[in-house]
Amino acid sequence: MKKINDVLIVDPVKGTFVGDVVISNGKIEKVSPTNSGTYEHTLMPGFIDPHTHGCVGNDTMSLTEEKLTEWEHFLYSQGVTTFLPTTVSAKKEDMLRVSDMVGKYIHRKTQTSVYGVHYEGPYINVKKKGAQNPNVIRNASSEELKQVLSPVVKLVTMAPEIDGFYDALPILKKQGVVVSLGHMDANFKDMKRAFLHGVNRITHFPNAIKGLHHRELGGVGAGFYLDFHLEMIVDGVHLVPEFVNMVYKIKGADRIILVTDSIDAAGLKDGEYNLGGLKVKVENGKATLSDGTLAGSTLLFNRAVKNFKKFTNCSLQELAKVSSYNAARDLNIKNVARIEEGYKANIVILDKELNVITTYLNGEIVYEV
Ligand code: FE
Repeated sequence: MKKINDVLIVDPVKGTFVGDVVISNGKIEKVSPTNSGTYEHTLMPGFIDPHTHGCVGNDTMSLTEEKLTEWEHFLYSQGVTTFLPTTVSAKKEDMLRVSDMVGKYIHRKTQTSVYGVHYEGPYINVKKKGAQNPNVIRNASSEELKQVLSPVVKLVTMAPEIDGFYDALPILKKQGVVVSLGHMDANFKDMKRAFLHGVNRITHFPNAIKGLHHRELGGVGAGFYLDFHLEMIVDGVHLVPEFVNMVYKIKGADRIILVTDSIDAAGLKDGEYNLGGLKVKVENGKATLSDGTLAGSTLLFNRAVKNFKKFTNCSLQELAKVSSYNAARDLNIKNVARIEEGYKANIVILDKELNVITTYLNGEIVYEV
């Protein structure tokens, strides 16, 4: 049994109060408000990153057990207690290799922050490929999907205007896979049709999405106008602070999901790296292809959390929503992302500047400053 006393407890549902938390058997056993108005540290649900390609030299496309362990441990320092290694557009064999590897990894570990795989592509629109390899981008095929899906695949980013999208949806739904719309040139009509088919999530909004025009709302307009939940890369590079604040003002904190979209260079020095077979240059933390296209980010989750707070001046309760609760809700991850009795003790303790001090996974300390 562990007790954390006199912390500012931030629960995404109940709000913020000073209290004590008792942890036992990997769970939050008791949460009690105290009368003491003073506290030194803040306690929030552990962060969830549903979209990350890698960091500190590790990349989803070339994972080994050792590398995934290293990645997972590094993310504890960022307060991340759940994440989805994310692929880039790749051949079927490569997708299968990644999902097989991650599946076995999760199975072998008694506790892990790896939740499953996010396939970002290859069923996207080559016109909005971003930093993805155009040679392997293709239409959705039901046959192939049946082969590449497995219980470890939790999230798939697809473009709604490509051939095969509507045949793929029931297959994905049957497997419990969440679909996110992204890397698309879809117009408003395409977006609305997908939305009416039950897809309510957009990948790294508004990057690699058709812009808003007053006679054609595009994917960006659809993201604002319809009740989509939006991933955002809040690094201050992919979108300016004012855009982040505008999304927050219009959509509210319930509809925003922070992601890093980080590549292997995240957490490393500037230099030249490889993303899915493409050369990426990192200068002052900005990752680009030779033609200047942004190639994923070097954002780390703790920084994303601080940036979002700074750009929007949101409350801590709202910060807990965008950094864990909304992601868990959308991916149907049970018993996490609340500071509430009976929930998993996946929690992060922060100082007043929101720096990570301690991270707990299933009630065990996995990172401490
Ligand atoms: Fe992307």
